[in-house]
Amino acid sequence: MMNKMTLSDTQIQIFENIFSFRNWRRKIGSENKLVGFVPTMGCLHEGHLSLIKQANQYCQIIVISIFVNPAQFAPSEDLDKYPRTLSDDLDKLSSLKCVDAVFLPKVEEIYPAGIPLEIEEQQGTFVEVKGKSHQMEGKTRPGFFRGVATVCTKLFNIVQPDNVFFGQKDAQQCVIIRNMIRDLHFPIEMHVGDIVREKDGLAMSSRNKYLTPEMRKVAITLHQSLIETKKAFENNNIKDRKNLLDPAFELIERVTKENEAQKLGFSIKLDYLSLADPDTLEEIDKIKEKGAILSGALYVGSTRLIDNILFNCKL
Ligand code: AMP
Repeated sequence: MMNKMTLSDTQIQIFENIFSFRNWRRKIGSENKLVGFVPTMGCLHEGHLSLIKQANQYCQIIVISIFVNPAQFAPSEDLDKYPRTLSDDLDKLSSLKCVDAVFLPKVEEIYPAGIPLEIEEQQGTFVEVKGKSHQMEGKTRPGFFRGVATVCTKLFNIVQPDNVFFGQKDAQQCVIIRNMIRDLHFPIEMHVGDIVREKDGLAMSSRNKYLTPEMRKVAITLHQSLIETKKAFENNNIKDRKNLLDPAFELIERVTKENEAQKLGFSIKLDYLSLADPDTLEEIDKIKEKGAILSGALYVGSTRLIDNILFNCKL
């Protein structure tokens, strides 16, 4: 592991187009330093910052992108209201004192052929990781991973990182990007950072901003349900799907009913719970030597929250 020499008090370079970024990147290329890259959609929180700190352990140059990627939003989703907090984000990045460059591209430049949200209307080049994008998150969000893989390909081509840093929070995304790096022969090493949580266990997410105080109280239900399964696995050595997942389903059902009875004006709805093979992402009936990814998505009102726990595996 190499520590970065201090660039601490230098100003962060901000690039709003590919041309200016590439001019800067070319100079870095001749300095023989490792470039670490953390792609984000902004509205930065401690989860994002932990990835940047991790990048700083491995790399001498740190690049962050902030880009709300239209290609990963369905027409029915929250592209327009996705929180955009650029000036706060830049303050947070500058307080880390290790970020060298922030790339803030425009939609028109990243998608020169345009990017209508209806997949049937899209034109141009897209990247799809077949076999791993249709299940779990991909069931409810069919075009999501195509959008993620496409934007990561574009960003990797522009930034040319040596190392990239992704969060376990998006477990399926980690598996997909790792496969994409392998399949497309990107000369990139991928690192996965742990999930950073609030004090009560809620996984940090930019979308937590959508939650009212009442919603925030029940938002923890998904994490609690995953913990029920973890207890069954670790304390009681249960390995089969039904006995692992039943306590989780029961907890969610109980909280859903309690919430309905309280008539708070919003509902809780489980989207899915998945117990999947960590390589193939296929659902499994039993946890074997390879371990498993336990993951799920829960709607609290119209906000969709995701979370996961890994059993005896790494991403
Ligand atoms: P996003 O801005 O949501 O696209 O996330 C950018 C990166 O931050 C992704 O690799 C996410 O997995 C990661 N990330 C998001 N939330 C967390 C969290 N709570 N802990 C760790 N990493 C996270």
